[in-house]
This record gives sequence, structure tokens and C-alpha cells, in this order.
Amino acid sequence: MDTLKTPRPQETMAGYVKRIRKNLKMTQFELAGAAGIHPRSVGKIERGHVTKVNHKTMVGLAMALGIPVEYLDAASKGNDIKSNIGVKFCPHCWNPTNELQQQWSDVKAKFCYLCGTQLRTNCANCGEMVMSLRHRYCPICGHPYKEK
Ligand SMILES: [Zn+2]
Ligand SMILES: [Zn+2]
Repeated sequence: MDTLKTPRPQETMAGYVKRIRKNLKMTQFELAGAAGIHPRSVGKIERGHVTKVNHKTMVGLAMALGIPVEYLDAASKGNDIKSNIGVKFCPHCWNPTNELQQQWSDVKAKFCYLCGTQLRTNCANCGEMVMSLRHRYCPICGHPYKEK
């Protein structure tokens, strides 16, 4: 599923690369080979020892992981993801204590597969994009994300 390839809000490049690699069931060695970089570089990136990589490495990694370079670039900068990519969720089925359903974040998903409600990516009251569902209420207007 393509949505797994989207960096999550607040996800670091280290966590992002590691998550995608594991999802593809690749070893660090295999990833390094596919990206044309040294296996130790992959290890360093995944441990967060490297926060800036050169463009060639980034392109190689993105190609090997099958993700857009922009995503990786955003993840490496940390802040751009938050402004570009929000969280998609069903305001009825989502519960603050539950994990997000992966099916909701599918790029093609518009409606909840459980109840048919239109999925939301922003606050129902003020339209502010939802960046994290670790919060129950919109930080801008205080409107609860979960609808009754
Ligand atoms: Zn639902
Ligand atoms: Zn709001």
C-alpha cells in the first residue's frame, strides 16, 4: 500500500527509512546495494547519526525504497512534512485510544471502509489540517476531532 510510504507527522528520516525498509523486507545491506551507497551509511542514517544526506544519496535511497524524493527530503528536514501531509481519519470510528486504521490513510480512500462516512483530514469546525491524532481537540479552535 502506497500510504505506508508517506512519512508520518513527526517521523524522523531515521525512523522513516527504517520503517519503509522493514516494510519492504529488505536488509540494510540490500537497501545499500539498491541505493548505491555503503551499508554502513544506511546504518548511520537509521540510527539518526546522519540527519543530512547529499542529494545523490537521497535520490538513491528514495529509488531503492520506492518513495518520492520529496518525501524523503521532507522527512530529513523534519518540518515540511507537517505542513504538507495531514492525517486522514474517520470522525466516527476513530477513537483517541485507538490506532489509526491503515485503510483510512490510503491515498485513494475517501470514505471509511467501516461505516461509509467521508474521511476527514482537517478540523470540521475551522478547517485546520489535522497533524496528529494524539490530540483529541483541534489546537486552533478546540473542536473535538471525534464526532458523536
Ligand atoms: Zn467510520
Ligand atoms: Zn478547528
